[in-house]
Amino acid sequence: MSEEVLLTADPKAGFAAHAAEIRSAIERVLASGHYILGPEVAAFEREFAAAHGGGECVTVANGTDALELALSALGVGAGDRVATVANTVSATVAAIEQLGARPVFVEIDPATMLMAAPALEAVLAREAGAVKAVVPVHLYGQPADLPAIVAAARRHGARVLEDCAQSHGATIAGRPAGTWGDAAAYSFYPTKNLGALGDGGAVFTRDAAVAERVRLLRQYGWRTRYVSEIAGRNSRLDELQAAVLRVQLAHLGAGNARRRELAARYLAQLAGAPVRLPAVAPGAVPVWHQFTVRTPRRDALLAFLAGRGIRAGVLYPVPLYRQPAYADPALLLPHTEQACAEVICLPVHPGLDLADVDRVAREVIRWASAP
Ligand SMILES: *Cc1c(COP(=O)(O)O)cnc(C)c1O
Repeated sequence: MSEEVLLTADPKAGFAAHAAEIRSAIERVLASGHYILGPEVAAFEREFAAAHGGGECVTVANGTDALELALSALGVGAGDRVATVANTVSATVAAIEQLGARPVFVEIDPATMLMAAPALEAVLAREAGAVKAVVPVHLYGQPADLPAIVAAARRHGARVLEDCAQSHGATIAGRPAGTWGDAAAYSFYPTKNLGALGDGGAVFTRDAAVAERVRLLRQYGWRTRYVSEIAGRNSRLDELQAAVLRVQLAHLGAGNARRRELAARYLAQLAGAPVRLPAVAPGAVPVWHQFTVRTPRRDALLAFLAGRGIRAGVLYPVPLYRQPAYADPALLLPHTEQACAEVICLPVHPGLDLADVDRVAREVIRWASAP
């Protein structure tokens, strides 16, 4: 497939790889007569919780809702502060703002580009109890420094919600990402490592009270049908999407193994090339949602690759505090700014093979050695 256009993510290939299984899962739902909160959702929630070694999974309509409802269940509300990073998708902060809370942006570690625990410690000390929750983002499928982040949060009385939208299956210090904090929020957007054929999300937690609260919030605050115990909303996962996700969950381990194989090949092929390669934190086993290299001439590399049928991505080009909706002109986080200016995500997904990686690596090296 080597002269085809290569994409950073390819949901169609993810469907095609398991098309027969997915079609039969969909047929099963169509024939069942259950389309909302039925047996497929219940089974997926059980299976996804089991993938974490036990706990509770509550599915919701998308990853942003998972973040928002989990934060709400953790006690975050209007006027509270929530510490997170600025090199993430708008969703992370949208969820905070929807609750009437305010984000406090924490600087990243310049090597891993993930939340820096010492910077978090400084923010928590400065805010003196105002920060109710910390949301580390396991960006690119690389788990953040959870042992240190959770310890810092505990010292300052803050809850921890892991943003696992890019880290399905990652581990750190031998434990799954998503099991370190008080809760974890997942997205099943089609391009994620575990993707539906539409929107989907979930909260994972080992705190039964948090799970129960999210379960009420996702459906009008109902414990008993037609009786709202608390003020909730509608944020449900469809049976169809749950059935698709059950198929994809069974293949997640193989998909992540393929991503690791592709990433290892990139690391070998690009060793010595004049781009900065991704750093993996000690004890971390990433799932390579993205393979992100860095160069100060990022836009030139992006254009060069595009001209050769390679569609690299930029996650994310503008820090959240520099975007109109969340602008904070007084804030400057130099490592965050530099990462946003330099990152470029090379194609890495289970639909690719080693020859595709070799082709991308060859073009990166050709670009670097061009006058
Ligand atoms: C995809 C993503 C989300 C949001 O998920 P949606 O399902 O699109 O709402 C949140 N955080 C991160 C880091 C993501 O990558």
